Amino acid sequence: MRLPFIAGNWKMNKTVPEAIVYAKQFRRIVEDVTDVEIVVAPPSLAVHAVAEALRSSNVGVAAQDLYWAREGAFTGEISAPMIREAGAEYVIVGHSERRTYFAETNASVNLKTCAALAADLTPIVCIGEKLDEREHGETFAVLDLQIRTALEGLAPEQVGALVIAYEPVWAIGTGHHATADQATEAHRHIRRRLREQFGAEAAERCHIVYGGSVKPANIRDLLAAEEVDGALVGGASLEVESFAEVVARSRPATV
Ligand code: PEP
Repeated sequence: MRLPFIAGNWKMNKTVPEAIVYAKQFRRIVEDVTDVEIVVAPPSLAVHAVAEALRSSNVGVAAQDLYWAREGAFTGEISAPMIREAGAEYVIVGHSERRTYFAETNASVNLKTCAALAADLTPIVCIGEKLDEREHGETFAVLDLQIRTALEGLAPEQVGALVIAYEPVWAIGTGHHATADQATEAHRHIRRRLREQFGAEAAERCHIVYGGSVKPANIRDLLAAEEVDGALVGGASLEVESFAEVVARSRPATV
């Protein structure tokens, strides 16, 4: 059975001291939650400090990006083994902001996903269509290309352990979330493709979470949608109270 998976992406927000204060408060509030997989993704400078503040808790830590080489002359980059060593267990790959502002491609998402898996990190692989692509009826074609390229060469057991975040670009940071029907349609399509390409077991195990303007007021409706296994939360994860509320409303008994 797939436990709900809820991850908070802080993007480029919070200094190290701010991140530590958040982590210490948040772990206390969610300490009794055993039926939701919870993750926070601080900026890379704070990954180690947050991992320390959350040590032995039920909250995991993700980095927001990585570079695929293990080490070398790649000024400004950080590698999967470095992220693992800093205490994270997850890494976000292919977020639409990376694709839009930093020229991330499906091919680089594939290299990063493979590097993360090789370092024993769980990749949270982001895919999703832009507004004009949806309006032109290209949503499924975009998702197909993203899935096929980003997951190329992965073994079924690796795909089973992934988190795929369906994040329609038009819903990120806009306040306009997908409807439950739109989310179900996309998630169903993604799972069908995983089944065709990697087999039924991998498709069943893989978490497919939704991202795009998730907040306490809409998380229940989104999680009640068929095939939605959780959420990647941006803005609403920046305050301890609202992210804790998203987690509380994701508990299976409350959905
Ligand atoms: C995100 O950053 O992945 C995201 C979904 O942001 P928001 O929740 O703010 O739309």
